[in-house]
Amino acid sequence: MPTRSSEPDRSAFGAPGHSGASRRNGSVYPESVDRLIDEFSKLPGIGRRSAERLAFHILKSPAPDALKLARAVEDVKRSVRHCGVCFNLTETDPCHICSDDRRDRSLILVVEQPKDLISLEQTGMYKGVYHVLMGLIRPLDGVGPEDITVNDLLRRVEDPNANSGGVAVREVILGLNPVVEGDGTALYLGEELHRRGVRVSRLARGLPSGGQIEFASRAVLADAIQGRQSME
Ligand SMILES: [Zn+2]
Repeated sequence: MPTRSSEPDRSAFGAPGHSGASRRNGSVYPESVDRLIDEFSKLPGIGRRSAERLAFHILKSPAPDALKLARAVEDVKRSVRHCGVCFNLTETDPCHICSDDRRDRSLILVVEQPKDLISLEQTGMYKGVYHVLMGLIRPLDGVGPEDITVNDLLRRVEDPNANSGGVAVREVILGLNPVVEGDGTALYLGEELHRRGVRVSRLARGLPSGGQIEFASRAVLADAIQGRQSME
């Protein structure tokens, strides 16, 4: 029986059960749509259902809008890298924080990941520089100090030329999350840094135990920076 002309053309969207779609591994979607769904479902917090919803959103979007998203992903991967001094995400090396001579570059705040740096920076309370560890020491997962940027931090402390602006480091503040691995990493760094003769402090425990810097409010973070405690 011929299709009536008033029937909507669903072929472009490979609607479930539609005969126009191929059936690889039981999938009802065209291959390129499957790939898009697969990629979306690799994103944090995105399950299969949400990935399908996002893929259909892209399919329905005008081409220029969808391609803008593709180009933004491409640009960010091409132009954003880690600062050679502090490992912050940046398009310039050193980053804008390391190269800002109005900041106190003798003061380094150590964080686990770039997101923590951004959260602390948004408080507007901190005028020193940072060091992003790119992880925590996790002995149970086989992650040692040499697998993250610990050696780069120690080099900044030992040699002013390795630090932002060639400034000698006076104090290191440990801004690690109060979780088991954060405490373990802080303990390790505390010993290594003391041995190199710098003052070591850590953010005040305004942060709830097990809490995350990236989710803390500005007020809590501002208190944690101001009320930092010396590690003796
Ligand atoms: Zn930097």
